[in-house]
Amino acid sequence: MSLIEMLKRRNVLSFEVYPPKTEAGMDRLCGKGGVLDKLYTLNPDYISCTYGAGGTNVGRNLEVLQKIAQDGRTIPVTHFTCIGNSRERIREQLNGYLDNGINHLLALRGDLPMGCTGTGGDLHYAGELVEFVRREFGDKFTIAVAGSPEGHISCTSLEADIEFLKRKQDLGADYIMTQLCWDMDQFCRWMDAIRAAGVWLPVDVGIMPILDQKATINMALSRNGCVMPRSLSVLISKHWIFPDPFTANPETDTQYHQKKAAFREAGVEYTIDQIHQYRRCGIAGIHLYALNRFEDVAYIAREAGLLREDAKV
Ligand code: FAD
Repeated sequence: MSLIEMLKRRNVLSFEVYPPKTEAGMDRLCGKGGVLDKLYTLNPDYISCTYGAGGTNVGRNLEVLQKIAQDGRTIPVTHFTCIGNSRERIREQLNGYLDNGINHLLALRGDLPMGCTGTGGDLHYAGELVEFVRREFGDKFTIAVAGSPEGHISCTSLEADIEFLKRKQDLGADYIMTQLCWDMDQFCRWMDAIRAAGVWLPVDVGIMPILDQKATINMALSRNGCVMPRSLSVLISKHWIFPDPFTANPETDTQYHQKKAAFREAGVEYTIDQIHQYRRCGIAGIHLYALNRFEDVAYIAREAGLLREDAKV
């Protein structure tokens, strides 16, 4: 069954990994008995791999996806951005993916590098990338696009952002993968708003497990401007590492290790509860950022009831 059929028929489960920077990291992810091999046992419908804006990790991104394609246990999906890419280079890279059996793509603009006002490439928005892929490759790729339930950080209004999302649909996108959103009321309003605006694509919800204070705060505030519900702020405050979680030597807090472990435990339960709330909102799937780890993600997927009966864990 195609991924689009799956998204239409049942709740899909997928994971996101990133290309490690070191050989040891590659071995942990892609080696025999590594994280990918373990993730397969959860029977995900697809595994996606991020793409460094500017193509900094293109080689590793392809290596990870090649492994997933060769293993044949799930669908490999690559993220792909416009940053610094000419049309010629895009054509070349996409042909490379196809040659390796990778025909699913998350088409993104990419985050603009610090100090830049444009992509520095031939294409300026994700919509242009969708249009280019459809024109050059027809239906060879299944194309996902990003959706931002709180509005993209640089959008002029939520309405305008939804209009651009609709344009991505009209240009040939197949489904939506969402940006981080912890504000469930806003998520439900956005679902209603996109449907009212004529966006009928399946919505696959991106979820970052809450495992670490620093990563949680970073992800919300460094780029995305995400609202933190009071319950999540309280969770962070209750386990606050003094003087702050960003300090280079936080072990000056004598309870550092206990607080880290307690936060992680509470964060896992928070994530599971959030998945239950999402599943009541008419979504098509849950896309868990696996962060190149297995145990926590497996626990969350199992406890949130995301595993199909044939999963091995
Ligand atoms: P677009 O859809 O192009 O939108 C960008 C902004 O421009 C928005 O404000 C939109 O309202 C506006 N806009 C859109 N079209 C037009 C137009 N025609 N005219 C004027 N304004 C317009 N980044 C990476 O670098 N690598 C990754 O692997 C990666 N993975 C991601 C995975 C997911 C699930 C998500 C949600 C995001 C990911 N990102 C990744 C981040 C993403 O690249 C950024 O959020 C980026 O800033 C916007 O990308 P986009 O595709 O949403 O852009």
